[in-house]
Amino acid sequence: MHNNLYRSTWAEVDLGAIGHNIKEMRNRLPDHCAVMAVVKADAYGHGAVEVAEKALDSGAKMLAVALLEEALILREAHMAAPILVFGRVNPEDVPTAVEHDITLTCFQTDWIREVNRLSLPSPVKVHMKWDTGMGRVGLRTENELRETTAWMANSPTIQLTGVYTHFATADEADLTYFDLQQHRFEDLLHTFESITHDPVAVHIGNSAASIRFPERMYNYMRFGIAMYGLYPSDVLKDEGMINLQPAFSLHSRLIHVKKVDQGESISYGATYTTREQEYIGTIPIGYADGWIRKLQGMDVLVDGKRMPIVGRITMDQTMIRLDKEYPVGTMVTLIGRQGTDQIEADEIAAKLETINYEIPCMISDRVPRLYK
Ligand code: PLP
Repeated sequence: MHNNLYRSTWAEVDLGAIGHNIKEMRNRLPDHCAVMAVVKADAYGHGAVEVAEKALDSGAKMLAVALLEEALILREAHMAAPILVFGRVNPEDVPTAVEHDITLTCFQTDWIREVNRLSLPSPVKVHMKWDTGMGRVGLRTENELRETTAWMANSPTIQLTGVYTHFATADEADLTYFDLQQHRFEDLLHTFESITHDPVAVHIGNSAASIRFPERMYNYMRFGIAMYGLYPSDVLKDEGMINLQPAFSLHSRLIHVKKVDQGESISYGATYTTREQEYIGTIPIGYADGWIRKLQGMDVLVDGKRMPIVGRITMDQTMIRLDKEYPVGTMVTLIGRQGTDQIEADEIAAKLETINYEIPCMISDRVPRLYK
């Protein structure tokens, strides 16, 4: 693992865990529902190409990203599976999507009007997005649905291949709003099916919705956070409906170890002063790697034991208080397991008062991802 790296800090991505999580999900799903692997944001910081390949090998049938750029990276890596872009792509970029057979998201008649003016070698495939309560993008009313569907039916440049929505609260204990969204979706689907008979793919559920209500999913479920082995919320973790294995871990090595006298200060601002004679270790990771200053005080694992980060985290280096002298080169785990102890992304998220989704995403691309 340490070979071929110039720096002693790396993230490890366990592709076996991704395979395991997909298998667990597929075991819960009815046969008619396939997995769409959500690999946007460089696969939530895990590496889009590697994760997408593993996901397809593990039975995922479609890939999803947020941006056209992200879809093109997958096509450049020779991935032939269908790819859906969730975000709005500018009409002038639609020819690029067609050239690479990338499915786009549509929810505006103005967009259709502009795409109608293009001269395309073949129609662009689109999934229509319905906003049932997320409030982000999507058409909201039955009138909008009728109008958009009519525009699409008459469009020479657009081929409607799917419809979908996205839940805002599928990971919460109180399911009132989730049920409201589900009912709104069913109403829109009923209208849609009354005005068009062309079969299209239907998908509504993210990880949380699909884990909790697999029988309510239609043709696809969109597998994001749980594919990476993280639970969408504590509610899902406590419900224990699925056994997930985290794929992401983060490691470094001691590059310097020193014995410091009592009363000496460490790092910018001298915010930490030794209480006794202490061993202080330095690791080559800092806020430019996404290991942000708010993580001062967080534990890391050395020799299977927890040791605290002391003093300010600097741009490239961080200090930790050691329980004894360790040789330079000793492995330090910032996220992941060492021996019987483990620092989960959830623990880092709690310290930062955020959600686990942010943790692998925030580790910058200066940190190499190694795959096993
Ligand atoms: N579907 C859409 C439209 C999304 O934007 C996302 C992620 O934000 C997902 C699915 C995946 O959600 P999750 O990571 O909670 O599974």
